[in-house]
Amino acid sequence: MPSTRLFAASIACATLGYGVTHAQDAPTTRPIVHSVSDISQEFSFYMDGRFYTQYLAGHGRDARNWGSLHRVDLSNTNLLVLTGGDPRIPYSEASLDHIDAFLEGGGTVLLMIDGAEPMPPGAALALRHGAEPTLRAAKAPIRVTEALTALHRTADVDAFRSGRTIACGEDFEHLVVDAEGEALLTVRDVGEGHLIVGSRNLFGSRPDASDPIHADWVTPMLIHFATQKPVVTRRHHPATWVEHAEDLGPLVLEYHDGTAPFARAIADEYLRVRPHLVAITGVEPAPGMIKRLLVLPTGGGGFSSGERIAIGAFWGDFPKNRYPMVELIGHEAGHSWVLPHPEPLWNEPIATWLGIQVGRRMGMPEADQTLERQIRLGRRFDPDFTKVNALAEDAPRDLIWGKSYFVFEELERLHGPGAMARYFQKKRMLLAPDRKTYTFDDLVAVWSQAVGEDLFPWFQGLGFGVDAGRTDLRSR
Ligand SMILES: [Zn+2]
Repeated sequence: MPSTRLFAASIACATLGYGVTHAQDAPTTRPIVHSVSDISQEFSFYMDGRFYTQYLAGHGRDARNWGSLHRVDLSNTNLLVLTGGDPRIPYSEASLDHIDAFLEGGGTVLLMIDGAEPMPPGAALALRHGAEPTLRAAKAPIRVTEALTALHRTADVDAFRSGRTIACGEDFEHLVVDAEGEALLTVRDVGEGHLIVGSRNLFGSRPDASDPIHADWVTPMLIHFATQKPVVTRRHHPATWVEHAEDLGPLVLEYHDGTAPFARAIADEYLRVRPHLVAITGVEPAPGMIKRLLVLPTGGGGFSSGERIAIGAFWGDFPKNRYPMVELIGHEAGHSWVLPHPEPLWNEPIATWLGIQVGRRMGMPEADQTLERQIRLGRRFDPDFTKVNALAEDAPRDLIWGKSYFVFEELERLHGPGAMARYFQKKRMLLAPDRKTYTFDDLVAVWSQAVGEDLFPWFQGLGFGVDAGRTDLRSR
């Protein structure tokens, strides 16, 4: 993650795999849900697995849709999970027609949406069927209707905090309403299938499900509607990947119809960032790393799996602002230079520091501002960075980040220019690719060899609890 701002956003940088989640094969008598969670209209980690884990794990399988919605094979799917989507990516007519055909054929669609300005593009789907997300805030108390308690008798929404109501016609049956009887969750038949439209806030948002997610009745409700369309459990239920792949030389650019207008500008930014990363680290990316760049439909951030980096197309209001995108690309790509041995303690800070260095080399004033701001935040906990052990379990996040930047800058000042490059080169030289661990003691030993001086005393002087006796790498 490139900065603290990202922590407030829905997306965290992480090292991930993707694809299909397979539940244990359930007995054939149990109703089985084959869901598709859509992350093509707007990417979030919530839709990339968390929704399935919180509501449907153990009841079937989920496959993610990364590509244009109209291309997804829904023949062996009985639940399609959608969000309002990013305002910059409309639901295409082809996708809306595809969803309608799925509904007509018996599928269930859950559309989680709240009215907003501008109206989320998913509203187009609701409107086709006579429902309209509004800007009207739900009035407490919220209550469930008999239609819902018939599905699960203890259903309640006591913990619901806020949300916007959905205006709809008589074809809809309300499941949750506000104090004035306006719908917050409502369902209608479409052909053989069911369209459920509900406020996004009825569902969870925290990664650990510590917020009210209402799984006690959401799960039975989804199973009730979805399993009215049977699925073949023996058949594969695959993820759908983005449909466009363009070979740019150093990597393959991946995108779908909706992200196509933004993809090339992001790739061009990567092609400008890359030589700077090589110069700063003194090495090429680790073998096999950063072969693919996926464009994500979000302003929320990105992630890296080493081999592939994924970049939120609208991060920092790109392309209007360039620096945040340069820093994000530098960060996510930076992971591919650091691997296969992640840095202990400061694996995320060093990635952002690399992004900041790229911004500096491009003459962007925001780079130094970002660096100085974080160092200032760190000094609130440790004014001269000599007292607090950043390796301690309770070390504050701002201290770790600020102190990391301070250490990189000091190493560069005392042993540079090019100290970081010598560190990366020495690390590649000393560590076998199949080495299992890389500790902070190992790291100090590598740094020591890189600069030709035993740095254990220097790190200890900065409060780091390091010990040359705990590493098998010589410190000089
Ligand atoms: Zn990261």
